[in-house]
Amino acid sequence: MSLTMRLAKNVVMSKVNYLKENPEKNMPELLEWARKLDVAGKFSSAFEALEPIAKDPNNNWNIMVRNLLKETSPACMTKLVSNLAFNSEISSMSVREKAAKKYGCNIPWAILMDPTAACNLHCTGCWAAEYQKTANMDYDLLDRIINEGKKLGIYMYIYSGGEPLVRKADLLKLAKKHSDCFFLSFSNATLVDEEFAKASAELGNLVLAISVEGFEKETDMRRGQGTYKKVIEAMDLLKAHGVPFGFSTCYHRYNTEVVGSDEYIDFMVSKGARFGWYFTYIPLGKDAQLDLLATPEQRTYMYRRVREIRETKPIFVLDFWNDGEYVKGCIAGGSSYLHINAAGDVEPCAFIHYSNMNIHDHSLIETLQQPIFKEYQSNQPFNENHLRPCPLLDNPEKLRMMVQRSGAHSTQLLDEEDVVTLTAKTEDISKQWAPQAEKLWQERNEKLKADQEKAAQKAAQRAEERRAAKGKKAKGSAQKEVSEAEGDTK
Ligand code: SF4
Repeated sequence: MSLTMRLAKNVVMSKVNYLKENPEKNMPELLEWARKLDVAGKFSSAFEALEPIAKDPNNNWNIMVRNLLKETSPACMTKLVSNLAFNSEISSMSVREKAAKKYGCNIPWAILMDPTAACNLHCTGCWAAEYQKTANMDYDLLDRIINEGKKLGIYMYIYSGGEPLVRKADLLKLAKKHSDCFFLSFSNATLVDEEFAKASAELGNLVLAISVEGFEKETDMRRGQGTYKKVIEAMDLLKAHGVPFGFSTCYHRYNTEVVGSDEYIDFMVSKGARFGWYFTYIPLGKDAQLDLLATPEQRTYMYRRVREIRETKPIFVLDFWNDGEYVKGCIAGGSSYLHINAAGDVEPCAFIHYSNMNIHDHSLIETLQQPIFKEYQSNQPFNENHLRPCPLLDNPEKLRMMVQRSGAHSTQLLDEEDVVTLTAKTEDISKQWAPQAEKLWQERNEKLKADQEKAAQKAAQRAEERRAAKGKKAKGSAQKEVSEAEGDTK
């Protein structure tokens, strides 16, 4: 990291500590301080957007920041800023860009990997259920992937599975060794205990996205009797130790309205969740349950609800499919992330089980250059409408074409589902979603245009006010100088 970056990181850390002392008073002050640094007014619209947040203690984001500052352990707070914001985002971006140019392939921001396919639960419709249950990546292999990733500028590592906490000793060891990285683990949380919560609070760079499917009825329906109770206990334990966590929820035909409701979100906030990650059900494998697929009306409902939640609730939620507009569509194939399953197959995405290479036989950079990743690179975005981002769910003909052209093989070791069989299951739903997505996209573009015009007007007005204030100040000091000069003459 360059000296300038190190200095910037130290300054930001000191400001976070200042903010902690009295968030209500210091938040607007800090915003003004940052605004003054932006002499050229490059970020004026961002400051306009942040102003109501900083000044209004009842604003949902203001409440969220205060909750985070009040309830997060010192180590977790430090690592959120230094590892998540700086190391994984700001200071490593140029390294990734250089590597992408040098190797002619996508270099992702994050790597999602499965330490194990083993799981202590048996959830209905889980994609991980399709992997060979004996598959595992040992500590040395995970460590090797992280070491190779850091050389390419990747500092964000996400675990899925299987249940990653089956290997919690290794996860803690990796977080300790790579104390400059940030780790997020999807987890059913049933293996969280006092010792794990304490260690996470001390390390600060390992947080959980806890899988929950709604309230007790919905969660236990998919995850098994008694799971919900254990999840709630884990949340209480993490909150007590100041470890931030989020929820991860799959919405499907039978729970969408419940998990999108105010009651559900309010409950998650009250338990201490700081972020929430929504997924939708994807029909992978021979045992896929097509009746679980969310209807186009339910997907539209979630599109609107996620935006409402972001405007009103003190939690950051995102929707893996309906937020494509913020990331130019699909983020797989190394453009922002990739997936390595427990057998070591390097796949474009956790939901796309096709690959040409295995990490046991290849370096990370070789796997990023494999044919299926190149297909992703040259075909993204898969649709101009980013509300239809997915080559499987929304544009199945694209996935068929890429898998066939690249010669990638199925990585579902149990049932080796070929791409024609898989995409046949999403043909109908993709056609049903298309007209709905077009309507929403048009609506979104009109709103965006109106918002941009409003922000530009506001920024111009503010610049004018600043110019006037500056002129007034200059006039005042000139008058003062004249009066002083007159006094001297007398
Ligand atoms: S392949 Fe589909 S599910 Fe995976 S990142 Fe792309 S859009 Fe999302």
